[in-house]
Amino acid sequence: MRGAVGFGVFAQGDQAPRVGFRIGHGVLDLAAHGLGGVFDEPALNGFLALGRASWEDTLVRVAELVDGGAELVPLAAAMTDLPFTVADYVDFYSSLEHATNLGRLFRPDAEPLLPNWRHLPVGYHGRAGTVVVSGTPIVRPCGQRKAPADDAPTFGASRRLDIELELAFVVGVGSRLGEPVPASAFRDHVFGVTLVNDWSARDIQAWEYVPLGPFLGKSFATSIGAWITPLALLEDRFVPAPVQEPDPHEYLVAAGDWGLDIELEVELSGAVVSRTNSRGLYWTMPQQLAHATVNGASIATGDLFASGTISGADPGSEGSLIELTWNGERAVELADGGSRTFLEDGDEVVLRGRAGDIELAEVRGTILPARC
Ligand code: MN
Repeated sequence: MRGAVGFGVFAQGDQAPRVGFRIGHGVLDLAAHGLGGVFDEPALNGFLALGRASWEDTLVRVAELVDGGAELVPLAAAMTDLPFTVADYVDFYSSLEHATNLGRLFRPDAEPLLPNWRHLPVGYHGRAGTVVVSGTPIVRPCGQRKAPADDAPTFGASRRLDIELELAFVVGVGSRLGEPVPASAFRDHVFGVTLVNDWSARDIQAWEYVPLGPFLGKSFATSIGAWITPLALLEDRFVPAPVQEPDPHEYLVAAGDWGLDIELEVELSGAVVSRTNSRGLYWTMPQQLAHATVNGASIATGDLFASGTISGADPGSEGSLIELTWNGERAVELADGGSRTFLEDGDEVVLRGRAGDIELAEVRGTILPARC
């Protein structure tokens, strides 16, 4: 199989939306091939809840149908929608390089990493109801902005609208309240992954985030891919994760290799402005899941857990414009000869991921003018 692969929701003409499996530029209509039930629904949630044995059986059946020459619906003739109803949305802060860069930018006179960072995967609960599918236009947010030199905040359109390149996992099988999910149970609960653009208004964020963390600077929209790539298709991409120092608490120890080797890139209005890889993330996905539930919080079908911005150590491998431009001090060059520090109206951002001979579904979004 080549090109982007994954499960999503599609419709042709006036057909009701249903579950399909994308392979490159085509979509396998699962309901039309006798796999009714959960595939005849307008969201993946029913299928996600069935669990690992059903996910694997379905992939076997998909491979048989494709190998047997089953006809595919041309992707260009299909409408796509949000692939699953998002239950809860959590965003972590798992990249050592990103956390260090933002520490330097936001707290220039202090240690870049806060004391907790190497002991637990820092995260926050985001807004599930404003997660949108790739292709959805993003309206520039309005809010209170206050630069360090300003005496008082002003209200208006964000002037420092940014992106965050992230990778998220999607929960299939939930858990019971009061029962932590061990890191070793990751594959029993998690169905697959998607790229995420965690759009961020840096000026709104910088003024509001103390002391409770991100709020309106991020909740206006979060984009995900239209097709969710099952973990089972990425098994050969797991590699050793970075060494952790100090050793994590016992509940954060996950046996095996949990770095995920996916080549990533960010395109801004036609120019690739960043290239990196998710294998460098300090905190792994099973650690994120174990930490998010260690207090007994339950998880549910459709929960979305994003990695946090993925930045590498080298110039040009940062996953946000605030890092790529070092807080707007140096612009990135565009394909048309222009340059950017932060996003302008009309800009289009595309996130891409490649894992060997398969791709993750792209995440695309264009900025519309503010409405304030
Ligand atoms: Mn983020």
